[in-house]
Amino acid sequence: MPIPSRFLGLVLALALTACATPSATQAPSGGMVAAANPMAAEAGVKVLRAGGSAVDAAVAVQAVLGLVEPQSSGLGGGAFMTYYDAKSRSVTAYDGRETAPAGATPDMFMGPEGRPMGRQAAILSGRSTGVPGAVAMLALAQGQHGALPWKDLFSDAERLADQGFPAPGRMAAAASGRFGAASTPDAVAYFTKPDGSRIQAGDTVRNPAYAATIRRVAAEGPKALLEGAIAEAIVAKVRQEPTPGTLTLEDLKTYRPKAEPALCRPYRVYIVCTPGAPSGGPAVMEGLGLLARTDIGAHRGDAEGWYLFSQASRLMYADRDRYIGDPAFVRVPVDGLLDPGYLDARAKLIGPTPAATVTAGNPPGAPARAADRTREVAGTSHFVVVDGAGNVVSITTTVESGFGSGRMVHGFFLNNQLTDFSFSPLDREGAPAANAVAGGKRPRSSMAPAIVLDKDRRFVAAVGSPGGTSILAYNLKALVGLLDWKLPMGEAIALPNLVAAGANYGSETDKYPPGVVEALAARGVRLTTGGGEGSGLHGIEVTPQGLRGAADPRREGVALSAN
Ligand code: GLU
Repeated sequence: MPIPSRFLGLVLALALTACATPSATQAPSGGMVAAANPMAAEAGVKVLRAGGSAVDAAVAVQAVLGLVEPQSSGLGGGAFMTYYDAKSRSVTAYDGRETAPAGATPDMFMGPEGRPMGRQAAILSGRSTGVPGAVAMLALAQGQHGALPWKDLFSDAERLADQGFPAPGRMAAAASGRFGAASTPDAVAYFTKPDGSRIQAGDTVRNPAYAATIRRVAAEGPKALLEGAIAEAIVAKVRQEPTPGTLTLEDLKTYRPKAEPALCRPYRVYIVCTPGAPSGGPAVMEGLGLLARTDIGAHRGDAEGWYLFSQASRLMYADRDRYIGDPAFVRVPVDGLLDPGYLDARAKLIGPTPAATVTAGNPPGAPARAADRTREVAGTSHFVVVDGAGNVVSITTTVESGFGSGRMVHGFFLNNQLTDFSFSPLDREGAPAANAVAGGKRPRSSMAPAIVLDKDRRFVAAVGSPGGTSILAYNLKALVGLLDWKLPMGEAIALPNLVAAGANYGSETDKYPPGVVEALAARGVRLTTGGGEGSGLHGIEVTPQGLRGAADPRREGVALSAN
């Protein structure tokens, strides 16, 4: 986002006077929000202008997203958040991932014939809903890094829900679209107008139940969702047919978000940080580790650059499918996957032509694991907030599939995050899946909200995306675009998506410069259309002129400056 010229003098003056402080490069700005919906970004910017911190603004953004982008995230979902504290220059990973109820069993997504349940049936079942963690996670972070009172962060969400908001195009399209969850009785009731037709873009939508829930969350914090009347409604809804789940009030009440130092590794002259397992962070880190052993930086957007990207991606996906699960339950060899010796050997597998097959490697400390059968469907959001002090939130937030399980309580949808577990606990040879279901366990995620620092641990950029398993490729692409190809955030985000896993190269074939697709095909990398379009990358970077943010042109988001 360009800085208005009237601020340039101020920016320069502040940059000069602030040189001695750790956050000198970001001091000139009053902050910025990049998010998937303008109403949500605006809510965040208002909080920043009122003196709120990055986490304060994130709470406001999430509260509005849950209303205006309910197909993607909300009060009934979970999230991973990477947080940069400008003063200490430390990076913390917050884990608000949903947990399986204590009563969940390894075979709960297996059908009577010993085969995995159909995916749609599982999504719409009561078994898919884990304890929602997004609000509890934000409350934990806000308690540590908030500047304003929690109760003051919800006014936009409450007003929009009470008074109504114009249905965003994507929400309206999803409401009449392909997700099974858009056809449940709850979704139909919510999205049908009095004349019997489905809402259209621009129609005014009111959600008084959401406004009432938001008032309770503002007054009571996450307890409003995890205990009492709303918790009871969640449990009752999950226990309804078809295929009821086992969720209890105890499961909700005992939910705890986590916070730990982020997973940070050097990349070129930078440091990249993401959450650890069970997020997608370790996989993105492995992708970067492989590319660090190539000269992709010398191949900005050319066929060789995309070739290297695609082959590193295949190796990254193969390892990730095998080894990532919840480290509270299974041994996840993150250090082994990122071990320099392992990465050296694995990067050597990138030859002049693509390997016919790509299998998981054997990183140090790796247990025997089954290849995973988990699949994911788009329905998630990523946003970034930078505040005036230079603190940064990079958060990917989700109800999993579009509108989650399609079951609604008190104005919001319940997640279907537990379908991110492996449906089958074992492979044909009987090896255990790292991502098998277990009571209290958190399902594997692809979400990998990233923050990039320079070698002195000053903030450089933050980016992330929704997109199910494709998140890994989307984030890796944006990071290569920014850090190797030195593109501005907007151009890095707009680069063609290429999701290379196994024998598939799903991509946006019409977005490459002339000749690249043909040159790749001549080398044995045949890009196919489809599978690459679903990114929703949002990011903010520091430039000598101040902050620059960008929203994915494939969605309807914005980057707004708080100046
Ligand atoms: N449920 C997925 C995950 O946690 C995200 C789904 C999506 O991006 O649409 O990785």
